[in-house]
Amino acid sequence: MYFNENSFVYLNGEFVKARDAKTDFFGQTMHYGYGVFEGIRAYLTENGNTRIFKEQQHFLRLQNSARLLNMPFPWDVRELIGASYEVLKLNDLTSAYIRPLVYAPANMGFNKNEESFVVIEAWHMDPFLGEKLISVGFSSFERPNPRAFRLEAKACGHYVNSILASQEAKANGFDEALLFDKDGFIAEAPGANIFLEKDGKLYTPPLGSILPGITRQTVLELASENGWDAFESRLTKEDLLNADSAFFCGTAAEIVGISKVENHHLPLEWNKSLGAKIQKQYSRLVRKDKEKISLKNKKTVFVNE
Ligand code: PMP
Repeated sequence: MYFNENSFVYLNGEFVKARDAKTDFFGQTMHYGYGVFEGIRAYLTENGNTRIFKEQQHFLRLQNSARLLNMPFPWDVRELIGASYEVLKLNDLTSAYIRPLVYAPANMGFNKNEESFVVIEAWHMDPFLGEKLISVGFSSFERPNPRAFRLEAKACGHYVNSILASQEAKANGFDEALLFDKDGFIAEAPGANIFLEKDGKLYTPPLGSILPGITRQTVLELASENGWDAFESRLTKEDLLNADSAFFCGTAAEIVGISKVENHHLPLEWNKSLGAKIQKQYSRLVRKDKEKISLKNKKTVFVNE
């Protein structure tokens, strides 16, 4: 599913067959979850080119995640972006999910390392939560306390929390989990951020107990471009149950509407929601070739940057 005998990965400066790529079993990443990674998508654009969406933001977040965990990051992000395009080419992928992982050397102790290693993998992946509306269950697992981890880093070990929450939700018959922060406010899904719609306005939890999602940022930019009010604010369970509509967003999930929270159906028909409009705009944006677009608020941004 992820690779076959013809697949290539980028491994520490070289392109090697995925089946020949090796690591040792003595590293801090394998034993302790002490590593950082990214989840990035490449799309076939409207003009038939393959473009990695917001590649700079993703590799800069990877660099920042490494810094937050005191991991050496000796690479130029441009070098890693170039390697990612090469991995797509070598694997004949025009649209794909790209997964760079920065991992630690052999070290069973807790002390700092002198070096880090990097692998970049890519494979075809459909939207991770599917394209239908989903049901969401409140998780009995809280997001980790931000004073226990560097939660703004996309660190391997944080995902034990995500895996437990997601498995529990599925065992309870839901499509995905929603986790709360240590104070009982809504945080995020195991691998996506959340937005609520109420009275024509959008609301999303503030940074602190969530991963600062690049898609979340794109949604905020699209909302501003549309002239909609969008707020980062602490949200309760009741806010969600009283919302008109809601959606998850993330690179892998893209924009996915939520029809049901626990046993409660959200009232606004998805097609009439702000989320549905954002979903269409997002789908167009990620397939645009790199070009200047003008926003109504007079700012000029480069898409795909
Ligand atoms: N939260 C978590 C815990 C995630 O793993 C992800 C996916 N990276 C997101 C949010 C969404 O982030 P992004 O939009 O940058 O993919």
